[in-house]
Amino acid sequence: LFTHVEAAPGDPILGLTEQFLADPRPNKVNLGVGIYVDEQGKVPLLECVREVETRLARSPAPRSYLPIDGLPAYNRATGKLLFGDDSPLLAAGRVVTAQTIGGSGALRVAADLLRQIFGAQARIAISNPSWGNHHVIFRSAGFELLEYRYYDPASKGIDEAGLLADLEVLQPGTVVLLHGCCHNPTGVDLDANQWHRVVAVLKERRLLPFIDLAYQGFDRGTARDALAVRLLGEAGVENFVVANSYSKSFSLYGERVGALSFVGADRDEAARLLTRIKATIRANYSSPATHGALLVSGVLESDDLRARWEEELGHMRGRIHAMRAALVEKLAARGAPQYGFFVRQAGMFSYSGLTKAQVDRLREEYAIYALTSGRICIAALNEANLDYVADAIAAVSR
Ligand code: PMP
Repeated sequence: LFTHVEAAPGDPILGLTEQFLADPRPNKVNLGVGIYVDEQGKVPLLECVREVETRLARSPAPRSYLPIDGLPAYNRATGKLLFGDDSPLLAAGRVVTAQTIGGSGALRVAADLLRQIFGAQARIAISNPSWGNHHVIFRSAGFELLEYRYYDPASKGIDEAGLLADLEVLQPGTVVLLHGCCHNPTGVDLDANQWHRVVAVLKERRLLPFIDLAYQGFDRGTARDALAVRLLGEAGVENFVVANSYSKSFSLYGERVGALSFVGADRDEAARLLTRIKATIRANYSSPATHGALLVSGVLESDDLRARWEEELGHMRGRIHAMRAALVEKLAARGAPQYGFFVRQAGMFSYSGLTKAQVDRLREEYAIYALTSGRICIAALNEANLDYVADAIAAVSR
C-alpha cells in the first residue's frame, strides 16, 4: 500500500543541527537554533515555573479532559496579557480565547476555521520573508498565499513604501498575517508610527488582521510588545485574530502552550465564533493538554509569581540586548562597523546580511553554523563565544 510513498523533504534547520552535533571541532557555535538559550547555552527552566510545578507535585490531581477550548483560567489570563487588563474589548465580551497546542496549533485551528468561513476565496498575505511554517500551515489549509513586501535588504529595515503599497491592493477580506514583535526571521519590526499607518490601511481596506505573537516580552516587555493588538483595538477595527505562544516567554517549548483569540464585532458574534473555534479544535485534536496550561495560568494568576516571571523574562530580554550591543561593538573594533543595525533589530533573530558564501565560510573554516538566509540566533551568543564569533564574522566580511 505504501510502496509508492515518497519521503517528505527534510527540514533545513534540523539538518543543520545534525551537522552541528556531528562536528568534532571544540569551538563550534550553533547560531542556527530557533530557541532561547541562556549564558551557558542551555534552555532555561524559569523559577516561577519551577515553583508552580513543585506546588502541583505536592498535591497530585487526577487528569481528566480539559474543556475543548482549554483551561478557563489560562484563557482569561491570556486575554488580559494580550489585550490589556482594562481592555474595552474584553469588557464588551468581544474577545474569545481558546488554549491551543502551541502557537502553531493556534495558527492551524485559525487557518482551518478561516478557510471554512471564507471558502474557496480564502487568501492570506504573508510578509516577505516570514517563518516558513506560516506558508506550510495556510497552504495546507487550502489558502491562496500572497506576499507583501516587508524587509529591505539595502537599509536592513522595513520597506515601508512597499509594504503599504502591497496592502493597498489586497482584496477586502484578505487575511494579513503580521508578526506582533520580534519578526522571525529578520528581527526587523515596525515602529509605533509605522504600526499606526499599517493599522489605518488594514481598517480602511477591510482586511482581516492576523497577529502572530510568539515572542511577547522578548523586545520591550509584555505590554509594549502587544502594541499591535492594542492599536487594532483602539482603532476600532471590527474583527481581528491573534495567535500567541508561550513557548519562548515561559521557556516551555515542549509543553505546547499557545492560544487563539478572535475579536468579534459584538458579544453575540464573538460567542458564535467561539462555537466555531471549538468545533474546529474538536475536528483536529479534540482538546488540549493540561500540564503546560496549569503552569502558565499558575504563574499569571499569582501576583507574586507573575512579578517573578516578568523579572525572569526581563532577564532573557536583557541578555539578548546585551549580546546585540556587544556584538556590534566587537565587530566595529575589528573593522566591521557596518553591523550597527544589529542593535536596531528585535528579539532572538537577526538577518545578518551575510551571504550564502559567507555563511558557508563561517561553517567550513570556523565551525560557526548559521542559516543560508543569513539568519542568526542572537541568544546563542554568550561571553565565552562572542569574541570568536566576532573574529569570524569580521574575517568573512573583509
Ligand atoms: N510563530 C512564529 C513567528 C514562530 O517563530 C513560532 C515558533 N518558532 C511560532 C509561531 C510557533 O510557536 P510554537 O512553538 O508555540 O508552536
